[in-house]
Amino acid sequence: MLYLVRENLFIGNINAAAEVLLGGNKEITHVLSVLSSASIGFFSEWKSSFSVPTKEIRTVYVDGSGEDENLEGDGSDKGALCSKKILYVLENAGHDLKLVRMAVPLRDMESENLLDSLEVCLDFIDESRKTGSVLVHCFAGVSRSAAIVTAYLMRTERISLEDALESLRQSNEAVCPNDGFLEQLTMFEDMGFKVDHSSSLYRRFRLKVLGDSYNRGEKIDSSKFAADPALTKKEASILTETTSQKEIIPTPAFRCKKCRRVVALQDNVITHIPGEGESSFEWHKRNSRNNYNKYDELECTSVFVEPLRWMKTVEEGALEGKLWCTHCEGRLGYFNWSGIQCSCGSWITPAFQLHKSRIDISTV
Ligand SMILES: [Zn+2]
Ligand SMILES: [Zn+2]
Repeated sequence: MLYLVRENLFIGNINAAAEVLLGGNKEITHVLSVLSSASIGFFSEWKSSFSVPTKEIRTVYVDGSGEDENLEGDGSDKGALCSKKILYVLENAGHDLKLVRMAVPLRDMESENLLDSLEVCLDFIDESRKTGSVLVHCFAGVSRSAAIVTAYLMRTERISLEDALESLRQSNEAVCPNDGFLEQLTMFEDMGFKVDHSSSLYRRFRLKVLGDSYNRGEKIDSSKFAADPALTKKEASILTETTSQKEIIPTPAFRCKKCRRVVALQDNVITHIPGEGESSFEWHKRNSRNNYNKYDELECTSVFVEPLRWMKTVEEGALEGKLWCTHCEGRLGYFNWSGIQCSCGSWITPAFQLHKSRIDISTV
């Protein structure tokens, strides 16, 4: 089944896509397939068995690092496409290769990272509607495709998640993005209908994604960590020799108290609301303590940051460990992928903690 959402915009399941690819629907000119990587591969084979020709235009990978990474992690989902993590495959398809199809690997799981492939999907829909009609489909046409079309309505019509979903249900009442997708769409709304990589919301999300992949047993190497601010600072000062000094905006930075090496920038900080715990158990624990000195209780004695490239002990793969300054080898803090409770009572998961007593705040 294929449902009209807006002019030139349809949502459907895999059968609807099959019909379009076999030439049974001349109205559709573009297809956005959101399927698991295995299904994307299967879909290609299936197409050839029905002699639907395709011609790859390009394949875009998540990053250019070229490292080997199993795309799906569970081992059952290995396809031809999984040696590097694919962001999308763009191809011409159909009998006369007139259909433009974009395939995006995405599983219908709450822990799946929708945000990072969202904008490329929305841009594809936008472009497609300028010249033709687009079908957005997943397997059942219920969760993945619905999440993407919902985001599309949110962005183009500047409406809330709730309103967009309600509007989409007018077209197909069965649509129901999974809870993890809904949570990410809420972030998308909070970030102003875009994926703002510099926002603390996004940074926290990325850290959670990293924590999830650690918990699945995936190897976390330093390419996933934030740049070492002490090294980027050097590059910045080289740059500024040829450009104007005025272009340097002082950034708050944290330095090792012992040797003054820069260990984190304000931008690397994962903020939390003091005292707001992640688990109700901890909340009760906090309340059961005496409440005379609420101020002290809410004081954070640590800052939490994203994993940074100087954190060699993190790279070694342990669940938890100490964080040492790479310059003077003084102890700076602690990390734990399962989380650490801040002195204010909040649980930060995963946690990369710098003790305020070991660092100084200054500017770079
Ligand atoms: Zn705190
Ligand atoms: Zn140091």
